[in-house]
Amino acid sequence: MSDAALDLRQPSVGDGRPPALPLHLSGERLLDLARRATLDPEGPVGEMLAVKAPFSGEVVARIPAATPQDVRYAFERAREAQRRWADRPFHERARVLVRLHDLVLERKDEAIDLIQLEGGKARKDAFEEVLDVAMVARYYAYHGEGAVDREPRRGLLPALTRVEVNHLPKGVVGVIAPWNYPLTMAITDALPALLAGNAVVVKPSEITPFSALLAADWLHAAGLPRDLLHVLPGDGPTLGPALMDEADFVHFTGSTATGRIIAKAAAERLIGCSLELGGKNAMVVLDDADLDAAVEGAIRGTFSNAGQLCISIERLYVQRGIFREFADRLADRASEIRMEAGYAWDVEMGSLVSQEQLNKVTAHVDDAIAKGATVLAGGAPRPDVGPLFFAPTVLEGVTPDMDLAREETFGPVVSLYPFDSDAEAVRLANDSEYGLNASVWSRNASRARHLARQLRAGTVNVNEAYAAAWASTDAPMGGMKASGLGRRHGPEGIRKYTETQTVAEQRLVPLAPLPGMAVEAFAKTLLTGLRIVRKLPGLR
Ligand code: NAD
Repeated sequence: MSDAALDLRQPSVGDGRPPALPLHLSGERLLDLARRATLDPEGPVGEMLAVKAPFSGEVVARIPAATPQDVRYAFERAREAQRRWADRPFHERARVLVRLHDLVLERKDEAIDLIQLEGGKARKDAFEEVLDVAMVARYYAYHGEGAVDREPRRGLLPALTRVEVNHLPKGVVGVIAPWNYPLTMAITDALPALLAGNAVVVKPSEITPFSALLAADWLHAAGLPRDLLHVLPGDGPTLGPALMDEADFVHFTGSTATGRIIAKAAAERLIGCSLELGGKNAMVVLDDADLDAAVEGAIRGTFSNAGQLCISIERLYVQRGIFREFADRLADRASEIRMEAGYAWDVEMGSLVSQEQLNKVTAHVDDAIAKGATVLAGGAPRPDVGPLFFAPTVLEGVTPDMDLAREETFGPVVSLYPFDSDAEAVRLANDSEYGLNASVWSRNASRARHLARQLRAGTVNVNEAYAAAWASTDAPMGGMKASGLGRRHGPEGIRKYTETQTVAEQRLVPLAPLPGMAVEAFAKTLLTGLRIVRKLPGLR
């Protein structure tokens, strides 16, 4: 690449004048992070990405976007490094994750500032990302090995057929991440992939590339060989096809529409993929629920991250006897939520991430109001707080012809519906093409669990909205129906990054007639053997 071309790929901070940066970040640090993107020194010059601060709308930085050639370059380097990495014992790979855990906690302020800067969320929501990265790193470092360790299995002939099952790394895994949890979504699904012996190429959302670049910086500082993890900022349709051509497995988190594109590309190459997609999550409040707790749970479940959370609650079913009281209390509480475009810990709700997101949320709410929904709280943008803020909104009287009745809004908006019986609650909650998360509230644990088991959702939280299931990292998380394929977390979340291989060793006798034995006699021996095995509990 010529010097002139290299100059064209230099990141810059601000847009003519320096942007307002939070306490723990400097322009120098942003430039340093931007330079961590993997770009082919011989490759063509791509576009520049303008990364904006949702709190103010100003351009924070312009960074070079990767090109399809950069994708191929990153995979080439990753592929070579992966072979050496796969030979390292598990405990050595795990050590990197333990160091990452400690580093994340040490450097949390920088991370939280960065997530807020490019994502516009409240500080408490950014803090959840830091916690999540630490918890996932710790979990897999200490509990991941059991899921991918070599294991003996029963052989055809006891003692004579010795069988082992190996879980071999796939190779180089592609991770495609959304903007809503830009740190955790870019890195927590890469961690088990790395631990299982793979290399990873991450394509973060073009809206929030810095958090992924920070995660790579941390992992390299924690001792991960440089070429095992690459971050390629850039937009999906440009980089996606090259990534899908190169990857040995793809973990995608994002919308159902894009998930279908990824699934088709994976099918074409017959590679595996896991897809963490959208939701239209239901919360069911039974008449014996603790109302104070349920109202607070609904507030957290609906308005965390300004509702830009795949597992957040958008449909709220409340048993008729308590409906009015619950609705009034929820609306009062929603109207009091403290919003601010700032970095203080006590801000309850932050901004939406982009103009596109604000337009979508506004369109959904306007459509519902025009078709007769009643606004109990909020209902409109709040430009007085910041350019992309939307008021916490509670709606009643939502009917199936309204867009937000069935489509994911992905904003701070919830619709309330009454129901009469547990069976009706199950039917209504399941009446969605999605099946990601659900929540049930009751003082009667067996009633709540019985109802939970009938819900077609990958996670169901009882007396909590989403955090109990999400943060139980030993338990799998993912979607049914149009909410996805495959699972993250737990043994499922690491084993998916491996190829299962059976090695069967036949000892002493062949699986064929012994010399001189007639085939028919051999067949009779086998039949007798089968009959005996069926009768002996130890051998079945
Ligand atoms: P999106 O589908 O628009 O984008 C997600 C990622 O895919 C981005 O990095 C984007 O650049 C990339 N992409 C877009 N088109 C592509 C293509 N043709 N090929 C390859 N990559 C492509 O989603 P978003 O708006 O960034 O995120 C919001 C969505 O993510 C919501 O629907 C939300 O529910 C979902 N989500 C799901 C989970 C989960 O765990 N199930 C978690 C977070 C977000």
